[in-house]
Amino acid sequence: MALASLHAPIQPSARSRLLDLMRTRGVVSRVELVGATGLTPGTISNVVRELLADGLVREVGQGRSRGGQPRRLLRLCAEAHYAVGVQMDRCTSSLVLSDFGGQRVAEMTLPGSGSSSPQEMLQLLADRIGTLLFDHAVALERVLGVSLVTHGPQDQLAGILLAPRPTPDWYGQPLAPELSRLTGLPVLLENDATAAALGEQWLGAVAADSFGVIYMASGLGGGVVVNREVYRGGGSNTVEIGHITVDASGAPCPCGNRGCVENVSGSAAVVSRALGNSAFRDRLDLQGSPASTLTDFRLIAEAANEGDGFARSLLLDAAQGLGEAAVTLVNLFGLSTVVLAGPGFAAAGPLMRDGIAEVLNRAAFNRELQPVDVVLSSHGELAAAVGGSLQVLRTANTAPAARGAGA
Ligand SMILES: [Zn+2]
Repeated sequence: MALASLHAPIQPSARSRLLDLMRTRGVVSRVELVGATGLTPGTISNVVRELLADGLVREVGQGRSRGGQPRRLLRLCAEAHYAVGVQMDRCTSSLVLSDFGGQRVAEMTLPGSGSSSPQEMLQLLADRIGTLLFDHAVALERVLGVSLVTHGPQDQLAGILLAPRPTPDWYGQPLAPELSRLTGLPVLLENDATAAALGEQWLGAVAADSFGVIYMASGLGGGVVVNREVYRGGGSNTVEIGHITVDASGAPCPCGNRGCVENVSGSAAVVSRALGNSAFRDRLDLQGSPASTLTDFRLIAEAANEGDGFARSLLLDAAQGLGEAAVTLVNLFGLSTVVLAGPGFAAAGPLMRDGIAEVLNRAAFNRELQPVDVVLSSHGELAAAVGGSLQVLRTANTAPAARGAGA
């Protein structure tokens, strides 16, 4: 399958709309599909017949009807296909295997990219994807593809990373083509915060049609869903709230800006401040290396949750800075819901959520008409990997002709 076939179509086909509906609703009747899509009963019948013939959907008994024929109920065949989401960060990586219904079948945590060369890291990911599929008896032919989810900037169409992070030799690496070669699977490169937004929209706890995501791993990113569509702007490097200037006289950032909120209030900034307190550093046994940022951040969050005053003050200060960036996000897109996702918020979520909500409901421009709800991702630190796997399920072409006979 061509790499480009994993990218979202501009207008989803009737086929993918029906699959999406069954993915989110579980069991449905044809009549419900007509009501939910606005497509004609004839179109629904034709597409459902095609999906039944392709082995993607099965009939599962009958529902009650108001007179006339009983409604035959349909649901996705969860084992028809699978997708892999890979979240790769400097400090930690994770793999998620999802079935065709979008349910998480398996997950695995791996070291981050900070201590490997690109070639070593991609080989490790390919090996572990192979292990995950073997352990769960999933044939390669059943896997629709892999979403490799990481920080930007990236050239999504070419599958190339355009950031010299975690080390300069990562710049310009053709990550998606190379992982595709190593795994034998189509690979899509995706932004981590955008993937987390997709996951929250499709299998998360957010009911709103428009919402923002702040994603905290070793860096800080953002994503926005507007009217149920992920906002991509000019590509996959959109809503980079980590690089909003919050201190005009702050330190230069590799992005070209200065005083970026990622460097003032992100996980690495919190850890850096903690390391400046030698007694605190020794008490928590903080490591202080770039590859240990998230481990150190987690230790600080645990201390804060146990009532440590210094740890709490570090996280509440950071929440103020993140809240200020969130005000810009909310004001620009007219949002009333902000989701906090990623490993950073999985560790420090409740405390930072309250701090961010306090700033938003003091300073968001539209707060009187529309108070802002701040919620934690329902997928915790796996949010981006889960979203990546859903992105593959939703956009891969499942028609037999596109996948080759027998696939
Ligand atoms: Zn920056």
